[in-house]
Amino acid sequence: MEDRFGRKIEYLRISITDRCNMRCRYCMPDGIEKVSMDRILTYEDILRIAEAAVSIGITRFKITGGEPLVRLGCPGLVKNLKAIPGVEQVTLTTNGMELARYMDELAAAGLDAVNISLDTMDPDRFRYITQCGDLAMVMSGIDAAVASGIRTKVNCVPQKGFNDDEIEKIADFAFEKGIDVRFIELMPVGSADAGSGLSNEDLLERLRAVYPELEPDESIHGNGPAVYYYIPGKRGSIGLISAMHGAFCDRCNRLRLTSQGVIKPCLCYDETVDLKPALSGTISDIKDKLAEAISIKPKQHCFNDDPERVEKRQMSQIGG
Ligand code: SAM
Ligand code: SF4
Repeated sequence: MEDRFGRKIEYLRISITDRCNMRCRYCMPDGIEKVSMDRILTYEDILRIAEAAVSIGITRFKITGGEPLVRLGCPGLVKNLKAIPGVEQVTLTTNGMELARYMDELAAAGLDAVNISLDTMDPDRFRYITQCGDLAMVMSGIDAAVASGIRTKVNCVPQKGFNDDEIEKIADFAFEKGIDVRFIELMPVGSADAGSGLSNEDLLERLRAVYPELEPDESIHGNGPAVYYYIPGKRGSIGLISAMHGAFCDRCNRLRLTSQGVIKPCLCYDETVDLKPALSGTISDIKDKLAEAISIKPKQHCFNDDPERVEKRQMSQIGG
C-alpha cells in the first residue's frame, strides 16, 4: 500500500519485548519502567497482525526489541511468520549475547538475515556502554551467524569520545569476516544526545583516507535506508545510515509495531495508532488500523528542525 507521499510501505519492524539483557546508555538508561507482561502482545496477536499486514502488501518483517532473544520462543515466531503465505522475508536485530545459543534454531526456522549490534571491540568500553554486556559472547554470536551462512551484518553507532577511534577497526573486522557493517548516526530519541553522535559525512571522509579505493555499491543489501560502499576485491560492504544528516525519508518503506501493539508510522514522532482494540475483531479490522497508520505517516522526520516534537520514549521501549 502507498502512503500520501507515494511511498510503498512493505516493511514492518516488530518489537517483541521492551526488555533487554544489556543497558546501552543511549537506548535503555537506568530506571526506565518495564512494561508488565500482560500488556505485551502475544505471539498469536503478532501473527494475526502480520497476516493483516501481508494483505496490504507488507511482506518483510524485522524482529527487534528490546532484545528479542530474551523473549522465549523467538525462533518459533520466526518459523510461524515464515509460514504465512505471502511473507517474503523475516530478519532479526539482536545485541548478539544469546545468538550463539539460538543460531541453529533460528536458521532451522528459516531466518533470512541477522543484524548484530557492535559499537566497540574493546571489552572494557563494551562493558561501559552496555553496562552489563559481554563482548566475548557477542563475538561468539557473530561467528555463529557467519558460520550459519545466513546474511549477517553488524550495526555500529559511532559516538564522539567513546568509539570514534574504532571506526576503521570495525570496518576492517567486517571485511575480515566478509560481512557488512552499518554505521548508524545517533538519533535524539529518548534521552540519547545526538550531539555526541558522529556525522556519516565525516565518517566517510575518514574511511576514504584509509580506503581510497572505496566505491559506491548500488546492489540491494536489505530493506533499510543505508547507502553502501565496497572495496574491489574485498568481501563485505560498509553501509551508512545517515539518520540525522541524510535525506532518506522520501524512500521510507516502513512501519513499527511496539511490543504493546501500537503502530508508530515514524520513529521520530509520538503519533501512533493503537491496534489492540482491533485484535479482538477480524483480520480485516486489523488491516484497517494498519491502513490508518500508513495514511498518517509523516513526510519526514524533524530531528534537526523541531527537537520538541521528537519522541521522548527510549528506543528500547519503542522498538529500535
Ligand atoms: N537489542 C537489539 C540490538 O541491540 O540490536 C535490537 C534493538 S536495538 C534498539 C536496535 C538498534 O538500535 C541497535 O543497533 C542500537 O544500537 C540502535 N539504537 C538504539 N538507540 C539508538 C539511537 N538513539 N540512535 C541510533 N541508533 C540507536
Ligand atoms: Fe538493549 Fe539493543 Fe538497546 Fe542495547 S541497543 S539496550 S542491546 S535494546
